[in-house]
Amino acid sequence: MKTNEQVKLLLKLHELESDGNGTDKSKAFRRIERNLDPSILRQYQKLKQRKGTGVAVLKDHVCSGCKMVYPESHEMLRYKNFVHSCEYCGRLLVVTEKSA
Ligand SMILES: [Zn+2]
Repeated sequence: MKTNEQVKLLLKLHELESDGNGTDKSKAFRRIERNLDPSILRQYQKLKQRKGTGVAVLKDHVCSGCKMVYPESHEMLRYKNFVHSCEYCGRLLVVTEKSA
């Protein structure tokens, strides 16, 4: 899956998930979830239920969800701004430009 819009939404979700302060973010979550592709949303909700967070980003070749390191040669790294799944933890994984 590849639309930039979905990637942006997932990055926002990731931000919300990793922002540890106690304010109620359910409204912000709902606003994003409404715009997610239904199949991505289904996956996200399942993951969130099971693991607490549904989205991870790949930064410096490391999955932010499970901390597994991907080899530099991994083909996933060639597809920036794509929605992948982590091979190790299964979370939706976004490879951003920054991780290059
Ligand atoms: Zn992972």
